[in-house]
Amino acid sequence: MSSENQSSPIPPLSPSRAGEAAAGMAPGAASGEPVISLKNVNHWFGSGEARKHALKDITLDIHPGEIVICTGPSGSGKTTLLTMLGGLRSCQDGSLRILGQELNGASKEQLAALRLNVGFIFQAHNLMMFLNARRNVRLALELHERFYGQDMDALSAAMLTKVGLAERIDYMPANLSGGQRQRVAIARALVASPKILLGDEPTAALDKESGRTVVELMQQLAREQSTTIIMVTHDNRILDVADRIVIVEDGHLASPEQEAAFLARMRDAAH
Ligand code: ADP
Ligand code: MG
Repeated sequence: MSSENQSSPIPPLSPSRAGEAAAGMAPGAASGEPVISLKNVNHWFGSGEARKHALKDITLDIHPGEIVICTGPSGSGKTTLLTMLGGLRSCQDGSLRILGQELNGASKEQLAALRLNVGFIFQAHNLMMFLNARRNVRLALELHERFYGQDMDALSAAMLTKVGLAERIDYMPANLSGGQRQRVAIARALVASPKILLGDEPTAALDKESGRTVVELMQQLAREQSTTIIMVTHDNRILDVADRIVIVEDGHLASPEQEAAFLARMRDAAH
């Protein structure tokens, strides 16, 4: 670990992005340093005979405010890649820079600090079933010292109102529909204004209409906050929200030709 890593804090959201968002500039047309930059990243699971090469020589830049959809066959490495982008697993080989910090060789503390800037939405909502919607959202604020002096209940309620759950703020998850629970999960993921929002098949458990609503909400809220979104999905009905689609096949990023063929198949299947 270099001394540079230890001394460089995660930079705040650059004011220029906020300006671009306010000026209505096209998301994804951002300049400057990528939010996430991978160079020749490899990842292995296990050891010996059972060693599995799950990510193979991945090089990828993701820019501020971009909405990237990651798709590809089951078992190809999408979740492994996504969890790495969010600091949920360390980088074994190659260079992984997130928000200006090199994470190859990062300590647990550095990964934990990084995760404060990342919101996650999983396939299952992962709500605390014994807490109501407001308390579930509030948990995400309680991780950040900067909210301690603020009315976290009011902030949580305001976020739930934004996702259309004003009438459900005090409901327990058991009394909400699947789509409503996933909207609570979105409120929780976005309430602390993360710089990066990661979704792993966030619509997989939802019907078509709720899935669409959930994705459009992620898109709208992330645009308001200039958040970068990376979402893994098999759901070809939501590809159109992406600025860019990245395809993972057998641990590799697909070539442009493979990408074109894959997208054509998915678009056909959607009609
Ligand atoms: P996807 O999300 O595209 O379905 P994953 O990233 O979950 O794929 O998995 C990629 C490959 O790595 C698969 O072969 C999977 O079996 C393997 N794998 C994933 N997680 C682990 C783990 N914790 N231990 C061992 N192998 C794993
Ligand atoms: Mg997966």
